[in-house]
Amino acid sequence: MSSGVVFDIQRYSLQDGPGLRTLVFLKGCPLRCLWCSNPESQRPEPQLLYEGDRCTLCLTCVPVCPSGSLTSAGKGALSYDLTRCTCCGACVQACPNGARRVCGERMTVERVLAVVLRDAPFYRRSGGGVTLGGGEPTGQPEFARSLLEACRRHDLDTAMETCGYAETRSFLSIAEAADHVFFDVKHMDRARHVELTGVPNELILDNLRALLHVHHDVTVRYPLVPGCNDSGDDLRAFAHYLLGLPRLPRVEMVPYHRFGEHKYRLLGRTYALEGTPACPEQDAANACVTLAQHGIGCSALVH
Ligand code: SF4
Ligand code: SF4
Repeated sequence: MSSGVVFDIQRYSLQDGPGLRTLVFLKGCPLRCLWCSNPESQRPEPQLLYEGDRCTLCLTCVPVCPSGSLTSAGKGALSYDLTRCTCCGACVQACPNGARRVCGERMTVERVLAVVLRDAPFYRRSGGGVTLGGGEPTGQPEFARSLLEACRRHDLDTAMETCGYAETRSFLSIAEAADHVFFDVKHMDRARHVELTGVPNELILDNLRALLHVHHDVTVRYPLVPGCNDSGDDLRAFAHYLLGLPRLPRVEMVPYHRFGEHKYRLLGRTYALEGTPACPEQDAANACVTLAQHGIGCSALVH
């Protein structure tokens, strides 16, 4: 039975596909978008999160750590060596204040399916189903495909959200098992794309083109991030790319929000877009107008 690392399962979602849905978030992503609202999803393996505000520096966790990752740094100070942590969870159990938790768990397809099937009557009534997100589902290709196929065997509607950065054949094979694909496009300029996400954009743009040749239900999502990809030139370049595709997909403008900012602190990381304001909904609506001027239909999502 195929297994993969899952970092969250959210039931009763009304987003990311038709009807009532269960969202299954797979861990691991090849991109490092500056605005990522799920930074805990980026590394492929389970990892430890630490909520400093809850920690009273009681040091109960130090002696239970079998790897020497946690040490007392004198006068009640605590130090954590990420490179030694095996994510065993012993400190999570020991902490009296809930300051630690492990993000990510290896699960079999069967186990995820058991959670998903709890809401089968709601899916049937609402036309809903299951959506794989992340992280990036294509980063665990065998697991993602097996899970989608297992859902289909139970007559569930299937969807996936993707950054599109995956080897093309593997990518298409997973997408084939999804009834709906939500595909992110973040910037048209290669160098700027590398600055914003850590990877170039050719593979992503080529994969979208290939996908549109074989898949009938594709929605392109554009995260509109102030100062990153929201200029008139950025949007016009996006429009020209869309017009050159084999057919026009549905397009959704996703205004940038800061809901994930606090998670960077839990990971001991700095938030690169500190001080960047959330994108006003009106700006997302205006961006849709720019696309409409090129004959492209677009809807703006709300936070
Ligand atoms: S998860 Fe385990 S190895 Fe990592 S810091 Fe906690 S006790 Fe140590
Ligand atoms: S046991 Fe919890 S509260 Fe105590 S030092 Fe460790 S993380 Fe902080």
